[in-house]
Amino acid sequence: MRKYKRILLKLSGEALASTENTIDPVTLNKVLGIIKSVLSQNVEIAIIVGGGNIFRGATLVQAGMNHITADHIGMLATVINALAIADICQKNKVDTLVMSGFPIGGSVCDSINHVRAKQALDKGKVVIFCAGTGSPCFTTDTGAALRAIEIDANIVFKATKVDGIYTSDPIKNPDAKRYDSLSFDEAIERNLQIMDISAFALCREHDLEICVFNMLENINTLSDILKGEPLGTIVRK
Ligand code: UDP
Repeated sequence: MRKYKRILLKLSGEALASTENTIDPVTLNKVLGIIKSVLSQNVEIAIIVGGGNIFRGATLVQAGMNHITADHIGMLATVINALAIADICQKNKVDTLVMSGFPIGGSVCDSINHVRAKQALDKGKVVIFCAGTGSPCFTTDTGAALRAIEIDANIVFKATKVDGIYTSDPIKNPDAKRYDSLSFDEAIERNLQIMDISAFALCREHDLEICVFNMLENINTLSDILKGEPLGTIVRK
């Protein structure tokens, strides 16, 4: 079984929402539970969070906004989510460091700095990245690949609503089959819409595995995978 020292977890903004709340206290508590279960195994964890529960660039563009401005708004939405995750962690004595992909200033959060991020992780802090890559025209998935490379993470975990990568959308197609593992080339070629091609390409170039798993079903799934349970789908070279 492979032992991971440091992981990066990519959470979509939607993972924090419920039908009633944009950021739901119950889902935030689940995220806290996941973080604690990872830390309890002496595995360092960084998180990068999206903003889709608040704003997505593409939706604002459809409403007529300039696409660069729309992406700036999307990235700011991810900052809000990062602050919410940091807050619940701090309240529960889990130390965090929030780092944004672009400078925000004031006492809101730090700017990305890979050296300080690694130092914080070494000390057992949870580093929460936001604002994706810091540049428009990207998504948080690509930000996840980039930050994971910067902090020398052993693997990127992508939390989704389903328990892995399927031949087609299992919610729409009951005959869809789950892959246990597949290569980056297969994932890109089959256009499986699980992560951006740029995220896959970065991970392929840096030989960084991705594991797609279901976060909502059971808060212990991630720590079970870390213990060696064959859950989710692994994408590797
Ligand atoms: N975004 C961006 N550059 C990045 C990451 C995100 O411009 O590197 C913008 C983009 O508009 C995106 C929004 O921020 O729609 C929210 O991020 P994302 O859609 O990736 O969030 P998720 O779907 O993971 O919640």
